[in-house]
Amino acid sequence: MELDRIVADIAAEMAAMTERGRVADYIPPLAAVPADRFGMAVIMADGTTHLAGDAEELFSIQSISKVFGLTLALGAVGDALWQRVGREPSGSAFNSIVQLESEHGIPRNPFINAGAIVIADVLLSGYAPREAIGNILRFVRSLASDDSISIDRAVADAELETGFRNFALANYMRAFGNLHHPVEMVLGVYFHQCAIAMNCRQLALAGRYLMNDGRVPSAGFCVVTPQRARRINALMMSCGHYDNSGDFAFRTGLPGKSGVGGGILAVAPGIASIAVWSPGLNQQGNSQLGSLALERLAQRTGWSVFEPRKG
Ligand code: GLU
Repeated sequence: MELDRIVADIAAEMAAMTERGRVADYIPPLAAVPADRFGMAVIMADGTTHLAGDAEELFSIQSISKVFGLTLALGAVGDALWQRVGREPSGSAFNSIVQLESEHGIPRNPFINAGAIVIADVLLSGYAPREAIGNILRFVRSLASDDSISIDRAVADAELETGFRNFALANYMRAFGNLHHPVEMVLGVYFHQCAIAMNCRQLALAGRYLMNDGRVPSAGFCVVTPQRARRINALMMSCGHYDNSGDFAFRTGLPGKSGVGGGILAVAPGIASIAVWSPGLNQQGNSQLGSLALERLAQRTGWSVFEPRKG
């Protein structure tokens, strides 16, 4: 089939690349990931699956978890969330603290670290940290219809040991009253959600609700309303790649969320949920080959949210 060939071609092209970016090295478990990996999974609206390369190899989803955290938090508090987190691209690095001072502790968007930390605080309401972490993990498992998905403890522990900037962000927001729980508890939740390990196939499965107006038809359940799914996609498109978000949108025309583990979840609404993974990162901390692979996929398939509607 045509799409099988496109996906296989892209994986072969990525395997031949020598400019692969730099693997994240702020914690040993990520620094140890071999730079030569590339995986891709495309799951169509009818459930048809196309895999290539290292699509079954587990990696740390890191900031891609912010999409699932946001979805859960919107379910918990609805639009009240927007009083504590903005919806604007930051134009700054993922862990930047600069805007928080002038913007009174309200993070620019849910996909920078500060925003995801506020969301972890929301997810803690009424729960112990262990329960909140369990809720996130259970949610991701149900989205992917896969109970084998788990948290990489070594990654979570290393994040805690080296997370000085995240502690700074959290303390700063707590000083503004935008965190309601103790910083250590909130970051415990945040670090564990970042440490969820998944492969491309599982991640593309977990993203199905975003391609399908909030529903997972093959699994027979509704995750969010169509409007909410569209809004999450809009945020992924405008804010999903930190200060590289505009460039990613320009190159792919698709909503996407990256993580420093080298994964990217992208959505072609109505058509496909796509996951790519290659651990080498570009200057802004997004997967270098993952972005390139998605650009080529979008070009060759014509998938774009900007494609004129026919009829
Ligand atoms: N755990 C990472 C951090 O908080 C996540 C960053 C990312 O994936 O962009 O620093």
